Amino acid sequence: MSGPVSTDDAPGAPAAGHPEACDVEVLEGRAVDVGGLAVRRLLPRRRRRTVGAWCFVDHLGPAVAGLGIGPHPHIGLQTVTWLLEGAVLHRDSLGSEQVIRPGQLNLMTAGRGVAHAEEGAGTLHGVQLWVAQPSATRDDGPAFEHHAVLPQVEVGEAVATVLVGSLLGAASGARRDTDHTGVDLALRAGRAVLPLDPASEYGLVVLEGSVAVGPHRLGPGRLAYLGTGRDEVPIDAGGPARAMLLGGRPFDEPLLMWWNYVARTPAEITEAHRAWTEGDGRFGQVRSPLHPMTAPAPPWAAG
Ligand code: MN
Repeated sequence: MSGPVSTDDAPGAPAAGHPEACDVEVLEGRAVDVGGLAVRRLLPRRRRRTVGAWCFVDHLGPAVAGLGIGPHPHIGLQTVTWLLEGAVLHRDSLGSEQVIRPGQLNLMTAGRGVAHAEEGAGTLHGVQLWVAQPSATRDDGPAFEHHAVLPQVEVGEAVATVLVGSLLGAASGARRDTDHTGVDLALRAGRAVLPLDPASEYGLVVLEGSVAVGPHRLGPGRLAYLGTGRDEVPIDAGGPARAMLLGGRPFDEPLLMWWNYVARTPAEITEAHRAWTEGDGRFGQVRSPLHPMTAPAPPWAAG
């Protein structure tokens, strides 16, 4: 579920500005192929590269059969894995070997370099997100956390599960290097009014069913960008639905994303590409039966 980023997802330059408060901007996701599986990519998009420090959202499924993502490297980001159905085995170069199931969180912090592989069996439905690490931590070593149980809180006609950050006094124990939040919403028919931080921007992604935010009806494959300046958002569901609310203070560091790397400069990515391609030890070893991924050359390195 860890799809490479290409220039089809995001140009090199950061998007400028944020919509005014109370605007809702609905962005269409893009269909991408990740290891032979059809995925909806909601971030990055050309018009919106980040929501807070959230910089990548891939929605896989529902009802995808099997998954085999061979060892591949990351730098400068955290991977957040969240399942609605099925199970995925995570293995990484720290020696972690962890099965994740619905309701649980896998959080891998790459720092200056980590590698991992993901194998899923049976029917899968889930999402993988990346969080950009700030300069304060992105050169640190890698880490991995598994949270088998996460805090939940009732909000109107929804049960909110807090993956990262906090909501209405329910605080996740997951590491976070910026002030971002990530919440899963299991909605029943009716309304949930979620409290927001006016200084943060937010995005809503629907994973199952459909919801309405103001005049906009959203189903899977679209991201509603809510901007900053709100202290709450009402979400209406006509029946059972699942969604994720992602938020955080606008990420003010320049980002350069290429393949599985989140960096600041082309030189950093060129060096990561060299290290992975030459297997010089920076990313360590993953004990996996799957073949390691071959990295494409960065476009600026061609010719
Ligand atoms: Mn990955």
